[in-house]
Amino acid sequence: MSARVIDGRALATGLRVKYAESVAELVRNGIVPGLAVVMIGSDPASHLYVRNKIRACDECGVRSFLHALSADATEAEVLDLIGELNADPSVHGILVQLPLPPQIDVRRVLETIAVDKDVDGFHLYNVGALTVGESIFPPCTPYGVQLLIDQTGIEIEGKHAVVVGASNIVGKPMALMLLQRLATVTICHARTVNLAHHTISADVLVVAAGKPGLIVPQMVKQGAVVIDVGINKLADGKIVGDVDFEGVRDKASWITPVPGGVGPMTVTMLIRNTIRSAQRLPAGSFD
Ligand code: NAP
Repeated sequence: MSARVIDGRALATGLRVKYAESVAELVRNGIVPGLAVVMIGSDPASHLYVRNKIRACDECGVRSFLHALSADATEAEVLDLIGELNADPSVHGILVQLPLPPQIDVRRVLETIAVDKDVDGFHLYNVGALTVGESIFPPCTPYGVQLLIDQTGIEIEGKHAVVVGASNIVGKPMALMLLQRLATVTICHARTVNLAHHTISADVLVVAAGKPGLIVPQMVKQGAVVIDVGINKLADGKIVGDVDFEGVRDKASWITPVPGGVGPMTVTMLIRNTIRSAQRLPAGSFD
């Protein structure tokens, strides 16, 4: 039987309508949520992601402030800008679009963002908070994935969840969130020996490696929930994930498409975190 497709675009659209209402409520109380986006250089993918984020802000009534710096910007310039944004009361969230040019230390930049404006959730404080299950701003991509899994109605507790990819922005926080939901979690990465041995036993398989065609049907358990985070541009310009969608959909119970799965949710979670920052609500009280 063919898997049911988890429609990330539809879920994201519904959430944005809800978030627009939250923004309207804030505006009635004299607060316009504001997101500052810092983009350095001219990486085409970064430009596209930033455009999508700004469009999502517009859609929900969040004010956006784009700061585009040239590829040769110095680290000091970037840190100064972040210092100004930290002090600006109209800015509730600060996003620095990654990757950064080589002359800029990404860690130093992320540590300079005020913890209470770190809507990407990458500051060490927020990473630590996630580790102990008290995240203020859950990182957008894994949090979006969590909501997509919840859409299926499948209970995560006690299930075997396998995360392929161990980056700081997707794989590791994803694994922590699944652990928080009491899954038994395996994390795989490029040095994992016999990847299929792990993926085949996954009830929930989240793939974030950036390798098109990495996951083929033989690597997937019958009935698994398969979430494809990967975004890969092929030579012909087509955008695909890391999972062989057509093949794997015959084995999975649920599967996300690329595009139209995780991507729209990532952007939407950024809006969510920005609104939450503007509301200054305690953790967990707004969704
Ligand atoms: P990344 O920093 O390059 O990390 C990739 C991870 O995958 C690394 O941990 C790497 O292992 C692992 N990996 C690479 N090849 C592998 C293989 N053959 N088998 C098993 N693991 C392998 O990438 P990222 O930032 O996490 O992003 C991953 C993918 O998700 C990319 O395609 C990216 O474009 C996409 N993405 C999508 C969204 C969205 O909103 N949909 C958001 C963020 C990222 P090592 O650690 O050993 O190198």
